[in-house]
Order: sequence, then C-alpha cells, then structure tokens
Amino acid sequence: MAGDFERTMSEVDPQIHGLMVREQGRQREGLELIASENFVSRAVLETQGSVLTNKYAEGYPHKKYYGGCEFVESIEEIAAQRACALFGAEHANVQPHSGSTANMAAYFTVMEPGDTLLAMSLDQGGHLTHGHPLNFTGRMYRIVGYGVDRETETVDYEQVARLAREHRPKVIVAGASAYPRFLDFARFRQIADEVGAVFMVDMAHIAGLVAGGVHPSPVPHADFVTTTTHKTLRGPRGALVLCREQYAKDLDRTVFPGIQGGPLVHVIAGKAVCFALAARPDFREYAAAVTANAQALAVALQSRGFRLVSGGTDNHLLLVDLRSKGLTGKKGEQLLDSVGITCNKNMIPFDPEKPLVTSGIRLGTAALTTRGMGGREMEAVADAMDRILSRPDDEATAGEVRRSVRSLSEGFPLYPSMVEPWPESR
Ligand SMILES: *Cc1c(COP(=O)(O)O)cnc(C)c1O
Repeated sequence: MAGDFERTMSEVDPQIHGLMVREQGRQREGLELIASENFVSRAVLETQGSVLTNKYAEGYPHKKYYGGCEFVESIEEIAAQRACALFGAEHANVQPHSGSTANMAAYFTVMEPGDTLLAMSLDQGGHLTHGHPLNFTGRMYRIVGYGVDRETETVDYEQVARLAREHRPKVIVAGASAYPRFLDFARFRQIADEVGAVFMVDMAHIAGLVAGGVHPSPVPHADFVTTTTHKTLRGPRGALVLCREQYAKDLDRTVFPGIQGGPLVHVIAGKAVCFALAARPDFREYAAAVTANAQALAVALQSRGFRLVSGGTDNHLLLVDLRSKGLTGKKGEQLLDSVGITCNKNMIPFDPEKPLVTSGIRLGTAALTTRGMGGREMEAVADAMDRILSRPDDEATAGEVRRSVRSLSEGFPLYPSMVEPWPESR
C-alpha cells in the first residue's frame, strides 16, 4: 500500500490533528460539568479507533447478511448478553447508533403515526425525542406532556394519571435529560396498566447509576428501557434498547432493517467493554462517588446562596436557578466557560426566559468523578463558580478563578500516559 495509507494522522492531516490535540488539551485543563458527558476508559477508546470499523455486519448474530462476520457477531452476542446480565433484562438490542435512534426503535415497535405519546414536557426536563415539534416524535405522534409540581418541582404523578385517563396514550415515557430526582417507576407502571399503555423508560442519563446500584432500576417495571451508553455509563457514544421477551423479535426487526443498516461494530465492541467494566465492584464505587459528589456540590452551592431546583439531587445532576445570583443561564454558561468550567444553560421548571436564554444551568458530576475528584474538590468547584458568578465583569477575579480551575484539574490528570489524543501503542 503506497502513499498516505500507513502514515500517521499528524503527517496526513495536520489541520485536523492540530484540532484534536487542542481538544484533548481543553478536556485536560478544564473542569467538565456537562451532565451528559464523561471520559471513557482507554479500553473503550481502543475499540473506537480499531479495525472493527472496517466491517459490515447487517443483521443479527448467526443471521448476518455478509460473510466474514464470525468474530464481530461474537462481539455483538457478548455485548447483548452482558447488557442483559448487567441490567437484569430479558432482551437487549445493542445496535442503535444513538439515544435518539434507540427511542425511535422502541416507539416504532409499538406505535403507529397519529398515536398518542405521554412524556415529560421538554421545558420541564424531557428530551427532544419525547415530543419536540421539530423532532420525529412531534411530527408523527400526538404529544401530551406532563410536568412537575410548582411547589416541590418533582413529577406531579396526579397530573400524569389524569392526563393518562384523559388521553389514553399508546406509550407513556418516564425519563428525562434534566431532572435531579428519582423517578417512581412503580407508580408510572400502575398508571400505564390502568389505561392499557406500554411503559417505556428512557434512562439515558442515569444508566450508570442504575448499573452501579445507586439508583432504582426501571427494568422490573418497564416494557422497554432505552439508554445511551456514553453518559453516566461511561461507554462509547451509542445506545441500546432493553425489552421484555414478548417484544424482542419486533424490536430487532424495527432496528434492522427498520431504521438502520449496518451496525457500528467498533462501537458495539466498546459497549461490550463498557458493560463488563460497569459490572465490576469498582464501578459500584464510582457510581456511589458520582452521587455523593453531586450531593456535596449541591450543599456547597446552597451554602453560597444558590437555589437548586427541587432543593437538591438524588442522582448525578443539579439544576441551578441562577436568578438567585441575578444572572441568566446564558450569561452563567458564558462566564463559567471563560474560566474553564464547562456546563450548559438549561430551562428550569416554569422558566420565564426563552430556551436560548434560560434561568438555569445544569451541572453533573460524572466526568469529574471519573478524574478521581471527591468532596473536597466539589467544595473548590462551588467556590470557583461562586467567585466568577458573583463578580461577572471583574477581569482580576476571572484571572484568579481561571488559575485555580487550572491547578485543580492539573491535580487530576486525564489520560496521563497518552501524549496523543488516542492510545500511543498503535
Ligand atoms: C441524551 C439523551 C438522549 C439522546 O441521546 P443521543 O445519543 O444524543 O441521541 C435520549 N434521551 C434522553 C433522556 C437523553 O438525555
């Protein structure tokens, strides 16, 4: 093979290589508080940049539509078995490319266009695939949204029950992208049974906490459980669907050939590695540390005058109401970004601001916990946040906070053995 084929990334494409190196630097030097992000293990990174990316493997193990699948179908089988074992599920489909496709697969398995979907409203914490008007869900289904109680800012189960009786949805979804409390899956099941709805849980954010035993599992209650693998579960960017045996065949047909062609075999290998790691005792410790850190960060922020939606957290994330500091979410996100703290602006329940402005920010502890940070560091993070958000236009403060953020992150090196943004060994 001649020419560029075996040359390194930096030789072949210095422009993209340079940006990858800079992104690695950004991840190393900053404090990552985006609730949906995490840092994957070296083993997961290795699957992603492997020769598995070369393989076509349409179909399912032992029923593939291509030759040469003997190794990759074993990988897929192992991934599915590990997913079932990890979550105690009857069936797993590990092919969905993303959380959105996983949700599409679950919906398409049991719903027809025009059917009714009851899910959490987007402005109260739901995900795009729970009925955003521009999303396929909003375009294909009749969407009914439930929300939280104004006082407690936790799910209003009476409202869910009332809406279910009134609208007779085909599917009820529990699960959210910005909800800091446990969900009562048994209560949702009861409501679904009462109206004859299929019950689906989208556990994209909390899957790692469920695997690690620090969050109640939806699997015993739900007909379908969908999840991403790249959030608290700390695997590759991808997803899976778990379901009861009665739906298994239809689900598999819906994923392929229904909505996808060839599966991403290198990502499926990463999922298999991720499930194995998540079944180990140190992942239980990790999940416990994620929630302990979220609680420590909550207390540290509250003691500095920040108001938290629902008054705290049961999981890995916090919703901070920045009106308590006289700021919008947009301004808060910008200020924190300017000192190396990454998070995202987020609507809070009954938010008076527009979605591109918002009154809140969403914070999560999964990524910092992966770096090894604990209670003392959460206190330091809260302190840095308070300093920059209390003096928004003070350059001297910004400089000081930037330096303390940098020194905090340098104490917890990320991928310390890697010079390049991918394993050097290759
Ligand atoms: C992140 C998320 C998804 C979608 O995941 P993508 O991989 O970005 O498509 C779906 N549902 C919920 C609740 C999420 O938080």
